[in-house]
Amino acid sequence: MSPNEPKESLDFIRTIIAADVAAGKSGYRVHTRFPPEPNGYLHIGHAKSICLNSGVAREYNGLFNLRFDDTNPVKEETEYVESIKADVRWLGAEWEDRLYFASDYFDQLYEFALKLVNDGKAYVCDLNAEEMREYRGTLTEPGKNSPYRDRSVEENLDLIERMRKGEFPDGSRTLRAKIDMAAPNLNMRDPVMYRVLHARHHRTGDKWCIYPMYDWAHGQSDSIEGITHSLCDISFEDHRPLYDWFLDQLGVHHPRQIEFARLNITYTVLSKRKLIQLVRNNQVWGWDDPRMPTLSGLRRRGYTSESVRDFCDRVGVAKRESMVDVALLEYALREDLNKRAIRVMAVLRPLKVIIDNYPEDQVEELDAINNPEDDSAGSRKIPFSREIYIERDDFMEDPPKKFFRLSPGNEVRLKHAYFITCDRVVKDDSTGEVVELHCSYDPATKSGEAQDGRKVKGTLHWVSAAHAIDAEVRLFDRLFNKENPLDDEDFAANLNPDSLEVLKGCRVEPCLADATPETYYQFLRMGYFVADVKDSAPGALVFNRSVSLRDSWAKMQKK
Ligand code: ATP
Ligand code: MG
Repeated sequence: MSPNEPKESLDFIRTIIAADVAAGKSGYRVHTRFPPEPNGYLHIGHAKSICLNSGVAREYNGLFNLRFDDTNPVKEETEYVESIKADVRWLGAEWEDRLYFASDYFDQLYEFALKLVNDGKAYVCDLNAEEMREYRGTLTEPGKNSPYRDRSVEENLDLIERMRKGEFPDGSRTLRAKIDMAAPNLNMRDPVMYRVLHARHHRTGDKWCIYPMYDWAHGQSDSIEGITHSLCDISFEDHRPLYDWFLDQLGVHHPRQIEFARLNITYTVLSKRKLIQLVRNNQVWGWDDPRMPTLSGLRRRGYTSESVRDFCDRVGVAKRESMVDVALLEYALREDLNKRAIRVMAVLRPLKVIIDNYPEDQVEELDAINNPEDDSAGSRKIPFSREIYIERDDFMEDPPKKFFRLSPGNEVRLKHAYFITCDRVVKDDSTGEVVELHCSYDPATKSGEAQDGRKVKGTLHWVSAAHAIDAEVRLFDRLFNKENPLDDEDFAANLNPDSLEVLKGCRVEPCLADATPETYYQFLRMGYFVADVKDSAPGALVFNRSVSLRDSWAKMQKK
């Protein structure tokens, strides 16, 4: 899209940007960034921000930076930096050679701070955290000036330099902006710019023992990089006056901050701070647990990047916070996988069927279409023989009226193969459990239809017993069983105890022998599946169900 041909339905951010560009602000440029703090793995809320920031840049032939907001050395790790890079790349956002770290700017930020001190707009304060809280006031009461507020420029310069050199212990002093202790916006009540923190930083090592606060680092980093539009979530709305104040005092390039609603999803928690708790307490397998809303978890579960981007598109960009139904995320995945998944047969809970009238040593290679939605996917051969497995749930000895699957005396179609009729049920004498079925087939039904025109209502999936391979299959349910898990103080108490079901001894089609996590399958009638990136190997297959076939979202739309 060129700025001259505005799309009909621009969201409010794109509308603002279109106007800015049309007015020639920032020299007709659009330059955005995604600024994650490397203190955890990215989740799907971040995907919304990445899609927006990189999408807007792309639409204007602009630029998109990836910048790590690494201002808190205590919580940050290189592992997170690497996982974030991989996730942003996976989503298809392109930062080219513009990978930056706020820590790249520590020297410049310090120079900027000295300028404010010199201009009498920042001072060193000796109040400790608790005193500072007392002086700060409340939403209804103004704060009080710090007793250190009127230090001379010389004294402030001397103290900040000694803070930087490491002469003072952690928490003993801060550098604060001198704004207004009576400001209605608490962020403007002389906010802290630097704190003393003797901690090793994953990139700058021991060079610094004062670290910039988020508000001090963020806008100035945006400015240094020439960002034109700083898009962030609504929680930063109250910080915008401070963002603007710093840039105005410094008189440097001044990007425009615009806030949008955070993504919230039902039955899901989107907060790194909360997710890290689940990881640390071993309540999930790790950040990339397929039940986690992290991008690495979703990827492992079988989400494609296309489906995640499509989901973000459908959610759109708004100013007001809302709760998106998790069914929409699943819908976006089904839409994508329906186009690309190879249809195969896998029996998750096998029941042996012996076709008594089928020749004992015969094996037929039957044709199976790989994807009815995509002719280019071609077809494959699947072996058929006298002994097969069907799904245990597809047989009932005493079926209710509308059970159209297999039952004694009833005839069904085997997908891609013949009609069979159940003649006899074999049970375990001691438990009464059905252990195998004896059936007969009609050789004249190979086309999938009977010669005499008789109809069957049920079509079952199956695998040839001698040819099928063994696999483990994991079925997932929602990680939380409450619509908004954060309604409760102890959100982890809302974890769904049945979020994982592991099925061993599943029997799958031979073509799955070399399934890789990059190939998406539909197991007919059972859902969409992908080989697990960590646990699956040739000879020891493990599949994750990405999503079931049931589509509650489409149904809801029809209502
Ligand atoms: P969390 O609360 O999960 O820790 P955060 O905002 O602290 O998230 P950052 O790494 O600071 O995480 O976020 C990077 C960017 O992603 C920020 O600009 C933030 O606005 C955006 N972001 C984070 N969570 C969401 C969300 N749920 N929806 C939309 N954008 C988000
Ligand atoms: Mg943050």
